[in-house]
Amino acid sequence: MLVLDLNNIFVMDTEAIVIRIKTPSGDMDSSVDCPSLLNFNDLLVAIRDVMPEATVTAFEYEDEVGDRITVRSDEELKAMLSYYYNTMNEQRMNGLLPDPLQIFPRAGKTPGIRNIHGLKVNTRPNPANDCTHTVPDSMTNNSYVLSCSLKKSSAELKRILSNGQINALDIHYQEQLGHGNGGTVYKAYHVHGKRVLAVKVIPLDITVELQKQIMSELEILYKCDSPYIITFFGAFFVENRISICTEFMDGGSLDVFKRIPEHVLGRIAVSVVKGLTYLWSLKILHRDVKPSNMLVNTRGQVKLCDFGVSTQLVNSIAKTYVGTNAYMAPERISGEQYGIHADVWSVGISFMELALDMFPYPQIQKNQGSLMPLQLLQCIVDEDPPVLPVDQFSEKFVHFITQCMRRQPKERPAPNNLMDHPFITQYNDGNTEVVSMWVCRCLEDRRSQQAQGRV
Ligand code: ATP
Ligand code: MG
Repeated sequence: MLVLDLNNIFVMDTEAIVIRIKTPSGDMDSSVDCPSLLNFNDLLVAIRDVMPEATVTAFEYEDEVGDRITVRSDEELKAMLSYYYNTMNEQRMNGLLPDPLQIFPRAGKTPGIRNIHGLKVNTRPNPANDCTHTVPDSMTNNSYVLSCSLKKSSAELKRILSNGQINALDIHYQEQLGHGNGGTVYKAYHVHGKRVLAVKVIPLDITVELQKQIMSELEILYKCDSPYIITFFGAFFVENRISICTEFMDGGSLDVFKRIPEHVLGRIAVSVVKGLTYLWSLKILHRDVKPSNMLVNTRGQVKLCDFGVSTQLVNSIAKTYVGTNAYMAPERISGEQYGIHADVWSVGISFMELALDMFPYPQIQKNQGSLMPLQLLQCIVDEDPPVLPVDQFSEKFVHFITQCMRRQPKERPAPNNLMDHPFITQYNDGNTEVVSMWVCRCLEDRRSQQAQGRV
């Protein structure tokens, strides 16, 4: 049952809030259990903990028209909180979930204040050093919970931003984001973590033993800590469904975007290659590289999802959904052994599709999803791989795709060669703004088209 909890409408100053610290390397969310006890210095220390390289002396927040207001004292902090409570109340009255309080650290030249008051941000206990694995002794209620604190870039961050466990009752489902070969993905709100999640729900008719096996195979996800890989928050079984909770990406997946310009695709490719290189370094093959498993957000981040860490989960889904994935390398389609090079092929075919806005084999009509009858994919095994038209794309891009889609796996670039490819080095400039602006513009276009459609 989908429930959007709109009870408990008004916010009190004793109610926990989430403060989102906007840093150059990304957003850091902190749960503040008792905001009325929070003082300016505590917050400044928390900011310095997440931005140790900067000398932060103040921070800013945005008012309703987007003007930045500076906070340098306890008085100004109180004014900010009071403004935020009003905004939260308004959002709730309009049936919306309150956004976190966003603050923008400001770097100054003077040396920092020491932590004389002690950090008060997030007082939720965090046993077992950031990760809690709750496995009921008995599986009689058929509910199996495995959860973890939020993973962030440093151990310090983990301490500050640690979160409780995720279980089914804490999740309020909102809207359906999409449906794939095996599951349905929902946008949802995690009440304790006070954050929006994407929850993939997959019906699986399997024994409790297999459920346990899947849960233990998924544990590797806790080790994944990369800005190019979707953050995993936890998974649980309820009856015959597994729910996998991950970070929500507000731009969605790349398969729903129209033709993507090369300078944007270049930046996206850099993140995808970095994400894969990271997975490979953990000895994980992605096995399902395709545009719908590349997610973007309005901050310009690109992250990979749905990599096959659990053989048992992949096998259990495959029993229900029959077909062969059209992005698979020829050696996989023909049932041969495969390795990292098969992921590299899938990168090539995915980026070719994104550049052309059509699947590169015109004889293969992918109507819904990427699973096809095996015979229809035989052309990928038999024919020379397609090549990007040289008059429409740069030489570097054409070469990159051609190399990734070499028929012989060994001839495709190895991880180091991928990172060193001129197409990747050219766009490896850390410019997230390009992707961010493109995502925002596409979302805006989509919204106005939907609005026109309604008229
Ligand atoms: P497959 O099941 O083979 O992976 P798929 O990727 O198309 O196919 P799902 O993984 O079920 O299907 O995802 C369905 C859709 O949900 C995606 O296409 C994407 O638009 C959306 N989605 C998935 N995960 C997220 C997320 N973390 N944040 C935002 N949207 C997401
Ligand atoms: Mg997917």
